[in-house]
Amino acid sequence: MSERTERADTSTRQEYEVCTRCGSVIDTSDWYPIATDRIDGSVTLHPFCDETCKDAWLDGQDA
Ligand SMILES: [Zn+2]
Repeated sequence: MSERTERADTSTRQEYEVCTRCGSVIDTSDWYPIATDRIDGSVTLHPFCDETCKDAWLDGQDA
């Protein structure tokens, strides 16, 4: 029972993301907050389950 369901609008996306801070699985069919980091010219995306986790994670980052 591991067959994948294909969807036209999610061809290159995972079916879910994991919150960068707390590790909760994020339902990507709904909106969710993302923080971006720019390291050596490449952009890294950090998905979060909600704004609370995003704010807390940002507070814990060194500026
Ligand atoms: Zn979270």
